Amino acid sequence: MALVRDKDGKRLHVKSRLMGESLVSKEFLEKLEIAPQQRLYPDVAVLKIGGQSICDRGIKALPAILKEIVANREDHKILLTTGGGTRSRHIYTIGLEMGMPTGIIARFGSMISDQNALMVATLLSPWGGIKMSHSDIVKLPTYFAEGIIPVMHGMPPYDYFAIKPEKGRIPIHRTDVGLVILGDLIGSKRIIFVKDEDGLYSDDPKKNPEAEFIPKIGARDLIARAQDDLVIERPCLEIIQNSEVIESVQIVNGMVPGNITKALAGEHVGTIIYKQD
Ligand code: ADP
Ligand code: MG
Repeated sequence: MALVRDKDGKRLHVKSRLMGESLVSKEFLEKLEIAPQQRLYPDVAVLKIGGQSICDRGIKALPAILKEIVANREDHKILLTTGGGTRSRHIYTIGLEMGMPTGIIARFGSMISDQNALMVATLLSPWGGIKMSHSDIVKLPTYFAEGIIPVMHGMPPYDYFAIKPEKGRIPIHRTDVGLVILGDLIGSKRIIFVKDEDGLYSDDPKKNPEAEFIPKIGARDLIARAQDDLVIERPCLEIIQNSEVIESVQIVNGMVPGNITKALAGEHVGTIIYKQD
């Protein structure tokens, strides 16, 4: 590539479309033409096992869910992630009370989610469960060639660099966001949240028995509804809407046997939140 000098002759640039740009200009970014995003591993289903909703139920939920996942591993490539749950909430409470910054709270979250990943991988070890790191994502083809069920913790690794939200210091990018980012990264056709409710409602069904079930909704429409509470973390919606490769995500009730199998097969169970045109 040609080297070119600034007009004043001072700086030497490598000629490219981004040369001399701040990469901040709205007009520039709007006009910049880029290649469509590649789908790295479209046939890998990413599935988050809820922390509070599933892992914390221990023997009352995990064995049946893991059994269902194992029963599906011949037919589907499944990458599992884990939430943190109650133990995260406990350390968040103490951390916030002690004045910890957002980055420390986020780091706590990663550590707890990692505990659940260790447990799930250990429980799955007779069927090829292994615990992987985020940096092992590029090794996925090897894992699936070997019949492995990879498990990793679900917190996006912002950790100490987690950004303080507008209000308070609880990081807004937690394990639901981690799953959606992972789905975008690998271009997954199936992004499945396994939780303990049938899907998305107009309000938290545990607190409001009048809450109405929403089987399918566009991410942009759901953002516009500005619901007080949601079944997945709020930033997920914008990430879905901005994605070039995500078509939809699905939230299923893992406490109902067969739901995970149906979702992996592309059936509409639970709630589908899709990217709108
Ligand atoms: P996870 O452990 O998978 O992260 P959470 O407990 O954080 O799950 O979130 C799932 C919970 O969110 C549900 O069990 C439900 O009680 C609650 N919730 C809040 N708002 C909604 C809503 N609008 N629709 C469905 N569930 C909701
Ligand atoms: Mg949660």
